[in-house]
Amino acid sequence: MRRASLWGERGVCYRPPGLVSENVTGGFTCRSEAEPVDKRVFGQRDTYREDSMLTFSLQSGSNGNAIYVEADGVSLLFDAGISGRQAELRLQQFGKDIRDVTALLISHDHADHIRCAGIYHRKFGLPVFVTPQTLARTPCTLGDISHVEHFFAGDVISFGLVRVYTIPTPHDAADGVAFVVESKGNRLGIFTDLGHLFPELIDWLSDVDGAYLESNYDPQMLAEGPYPPHLKQRIRGPHGHLSNAESARLAAQVGNERLRWLALAHLSEQNNCPSVALETHRRVHGGIVPLHVAGRYGPSEVFRL
Ligand SMILES: [Zn+2]
Ligand SMILES: [Zn+2]
Repeated sequence: MRRASLWGERGVCYRPPGLVSENVTGGFTCRSEAEPVDKRVFGQRDTYREDSMLTFSLQSGSNGNAIYVEADGVSLLFDAGISGRQAELRLQQFGKDIRDVTALLISHDHADHIRCAGIYHRKFGLPVFVTPQTLARTPCTLGDISHVEHFFAGDVISFGLVRVYTIPTPHDAADGVAFVVESKGNRLGIFTDLGHLFPELIDWLSDVDGAYLESNYDPQMLAEGPYPPHLKQRIRGPHGHLSNAESARLAAQVGNERLRWLALAHLSEQNNCPSVALETHRRVHGGIVPLHVAGRYGPSEVFRL
């Protein structure tokens, strides 16, 4: 684990004022005194460029998650829930080499998000950005990771001019976070494994141009499905996942003032299906923005911001 940094401009982190500053972030700088980002700039559309950010999901769901984001010469992978081979092949389908990825960022300690982080590091040389608690509580064996960069939930991590906001979630992980990626005034949300509709979510979703948004289960399918009672309770409880209706309600509150597309994500295999999730969203908010699904069995289309 690196303590002294050569990371320099590739990975600079600051903690917004009000949060406790701890200078234990390994290879990158953490400065509590840094200026907070002025959120007003996020709404300015004159900085918008059609090609300024692209993203696609390699896979989304309890069978494994990984999302690729590229902006301003920086490429990031969010989560490592699919095998190194699958990640490499699926990126190749889009003309991307996983060895060129700048960093791997981990959202939380559940296996469908972290289980292959060690492989991505050892096989492809990716530095792993993760919170100390997430790393400590990871139940699966990651193997040796010689380059870990610690961040804390709530930190903002910079890769050159690309910023990644980390947002604490009430999901039943040790220290889960959602992400917002910002580049040139465009913002992408990666909102899955959310627990419940916590109040800050609406502000975050209101301030992005596109988002992966959890739409995990249909309540009736869950109730009538094969899961044991304790698992059903966990999923619909306050630290589990968002149902289609909850996800749609959130989207309805946000509207389309800024948001331009949604990719419904982390759909359950047993308790949901794409058509049910899409139909619920359309019923609740009429499809206020174009809706897509980030699927469980392969990559999504490419989304641009
Ligand atoms: Zn998950
Ligand atoms: Zn999870």
